[in-house]
Amino acid sequence: PDSAAPPTAPDWLQAGMDHLWLPYTQMRNLPTPLPIVSAEGVRLHLPDGRSLIDGISSWWTVCHGYNHPHIRKAVVEQIQHLPHVMLGGLVHEPVARLATRLTAMLPGDLDHVFFSESGSVSVEVAMKMAIQYWINRGVAGRHRFVSFRFGYHGDTMACMSICDPDEGMHGLFAGCLPEQIIADVPRSTEQRAAFRQLLKQRRGEIAAVIIEPLVQGAGGLKMYDAETLAFIRQACDAQDHLLILDEIMTGFGRTGTMFACQQADMVPDIATFSKALTGGTLPLAATVATRRVFEAFLSDSPSTALMHGPTYMGNPLACAAAHASLDLFEREPRLQQVAAIETRLRDGLSACRGLNGVLDVRTKGAIGVVELDRAGEANWLKPRLIAEGVWVRPFGNIVYLMPPFVIEPVDLDRLTAAVVKVVSDWS
Ligand code: PLP
Repeated sequence: PDSAAPPTAPDWLQAGMDHLWLPYTQMRNLPTPLPIVSAEGVRLHLPDGRSLIDGISSWWTVCHGYNHPHIRKAVVEQIQHLPHVMLGGLVHEPVARLATRLTAMLPGDLDHVFFSESGSVSVEVAMKMAIQYWINRGVAGRHRFVSFRFGYHGDTMACMSICDPDEGMHGLFAGCLPEQIIADVPRSTEQRAAFRQLLKQRRGEIAAVIIEPLVQGAGGLKMYDAETLAFIRQACDAQDHLLILDEIMTGFGRTGTMFACQQADMVPDIATFSKALTGGTLPLAATVATRRVFEAFLSDSPSTALMHGPTYMGNPLACAAAHASLDLFEREPRLQQVAAIETRLRDGLSACRGLNGVLDVRTKGAIGVVELDRAGEANWLKPRLIAEGVWVRPFGNIVYLMPPFVIEPVDLDRLTAAVVKVVSDWS
């Protein structure tokens, strides 16, 4: 069983489990999930005194570790005078300064920020921006997206339509989603020729191409090189296609540069960010557009405006957390830490290479992946990993690590050793 709940489970746990509906979870005969009462640095604390090293940064968010004092202080200060205000017709300093600050960090003329409160919504906004860009320019019929095998962009209806349909998670809904175009990531010469051809032949239907730069996340943690990303940009330019980069997982240092697109020296037309934007403290997401995209929405008519407005968009507490997180990126050597993590992950996980049942071991920035040859197997390793004192949540045939950037070498070694042990025992 998957259970690792302590024998002394707190009162609220069982009562709550009669009513909570958990993500990606068969709720019948559910092993009790781990209760967490606090978290500090890279450690999650349980009520029975145990603690686990978080090897996946709470779904890739807590890049500075949990409960960082600088972020906590910023949020506490902000809550004293403006916890929330709507952004329709009103504005506040944290959101205005955050738009200025983010656009100054981003490459090229990614100059206009639309805030929302989750990664999926920021992708939906990007999709609406792309479709309406063409409508506003008087071009009809361009409402499909080219996305990629192993791509993942979120769980809402439009996002599901651009995820890899063969990955299974959203297969049930296939019949009621808008039809999109799924391509292979164009790594080889043949794939590139096919990709160019696709962009040319179906030009009149395509609103935009969308891809996760360098590392495709929840669809299988597949990696591709910067040259391939640069090629995708060139191919889009050749046919005047918009390119959306989903940097929700990769943004803010995870692949070794602040933004993954910088490694390919390219600028997307629209980019989406979330996850580590607030250092994992509060929900916030951003869809950022270039001047060219933004200007297509300007006219003397309200009909060309972007009709979207999440209630909590640009929440001041979340913006304060994002500022504090960006301060930490400025003050502390986060990218050097990522580079050191990459080397240590590569060395630590290399012992899995060649083990029976291991298909591949790969690393990029602070991401380490062990791919097994049997789909559905990896999830069974979770309780064994917990028994080793680490929180790692494998999926499908993938066991992966994405630790907080502040992890000490000794804790990183514990993480890789736990993965090596559990995979060796299993293989
Ligand atoms: N896009 C990418 C690349 C992601 O990794 C995720 C989440 O894992 C999303 C979109 C969806 O973000 P959220 O879960 O905040 O809706």
